Amino acid sequence: MGRPKYKEEKAPSELRFDLVSKDWVVIATGRARKPQDFRKERKKQESKGKERCPFESLDKQEAATAVFWKGKRMNLPPPGEAPKKWTAVSVLNKYPAFTPGGRLATRLEGPFSAMDGVGFHEVLITKHHTKDVPQFSLEEVKELVDLYHSRYVSLKEEELVNHITIFKNKGSDAGASLSHPHSQLIAIPIIDPDIDRSLRGSARYLKEQSKCVHCIMLDWNLKKGSRIVFENKNFAVLCPFASRVAFEVRVYPKKHSPYMEDMEEEERWAFAEALQKALSALFKGLGDPDYNYFFHTAPVNKGNYEHYHWHLEILPKTATWAGFELGTGIEISTIEPETAAAFLRKQS
Ligand SMILES: [Zn+2]
Ligand SMILES: [Zn+2]
Repeated sequence: MGRPKYKEEKAPSELRFDLVSKDWVVIATGRARKPQDFRKERKKQESKGKERCPFESLDKQEAATAVFWKGKRMNLPPPGEAPKKWTAVSVLNKYPAFTPGGRLATRLEGPFSAMDGVGFHEVLITKHHTKDVPQFSLEEVKELVDLYHSRYVSLKEEELVNHITIFKNKGSDAGASLSHPHSQLIAIPIIDPDIDRSLRGSARYLKEQSKCVHCIMLDWNLKKGSRIVFENKNFAVLCPFASRVAFEVRVYPKKHSPYMEDMEEEERWAFAEALQKALSALFKGLGDPDYNYFFHTAPVNKGNYEHYHWHLEILPKTATWAGFELGTGIEISTIEPETAAAFLRKQS
């Protein structure tokens, strides 16, 4: 009497190990879905019309912190006034999670400790109500990259800031409450757990192997080619070997660098192109999916982060987290990263 048998005893999935986080991810191989199956069912999104969009006029927004107009950096308007001419702008968040007013001190309450939400929280907006990176000209993408870069460089000088994160939530499934394209920036004294894990993972690998784990992964991926979506002189767009979600895409600088803010003018052009290729491929291939993207870059607290290799992570919302995912933190990625990359490569 053996144990009951499955109809099919071949492994239905593959466990892949993430060299940085030391997490295992599950990739469904047996019953993997076809790339086309991921196309988003067009929901009738009750996206607010332009008339009711709070980003159409900046009069009702908080103060601007940087203004760009047709690729050029403009002067800030006088206090209390909104910028008249702008194509990309950053403003203080109207509903901030962090403000610089609080006290930078830990409060204790028995076994618990807490601190004020001290920091900066900004919204970065591009002018057009519906047009986003896939529809932009390369100049418009570069302007957005310059806006990210300039806010990053200014806020890193603030004394209380140790870590800056720039991210974008696109679509309601990804947590965006407004459909008008926008990103956010948070600059805070603490280093968030996700980047901390990524930093520790990179440092550990360097100690064990004397090499940057990201450089090793990148070199291998570039040599193999099967997970590469796009590359130019300075950047590679790829689906990671241990993708955490179906169609996860990352943008890596080819040159080892811990700091996103060190990107030179020419590299920002190359990054703009890579970002656009990545988002256009997802847009075309998956039918405008919702996604989150964020930069992983070394903190600005002048620590030693030479081991780190900055990058951008794009996580499309291709699945709904249910019991297994919530209980384990592991999403079963229902497509092999190699298949996803081949499919996205064809879209550009
Ligand atoms: Zn709008
Ligand atoms: Zn590296």
